[in-house]
Amino acid sequence: MNPKELQKIFQTVQKNIRCPHCGERYDFENIHLMSFSGSVYLLQMECSNHAPLLASVAMNGARIEQITSASAISVNEVISAYQTISKAKTLKDIIG
Ligand SMILES: [Zn+2]
Repeated sequence: MNPKELQKIFQTVQKNIRCPHCGERYDFENIHLMSFSGSVYLLQMECSNHAPLLASVAMNGARIEQITSASAISVNEVISAYQTISKAKTLKDIIG
């Protein structure tokens, strides 16, 4: 991983991505690198008032190809997924 590349990603994310709920910009300390694979980075942004947001950033050389911002994960979604999984006995029960 190239630290300069990572710094650039953080700057770009900070400039371009805002909390979808309140429009707050994310500070550097609220942007976390979750994982990376080759030139694709998975970031988590935390808003102090809302659920975290996940974004994947693809780098092409020194250029940022795309930022895909996934939907925020709400606590309810996690709980309901957990309940579905813990109730289900087989994979067929989960996927219906
Ligand atoms: Zn927010």
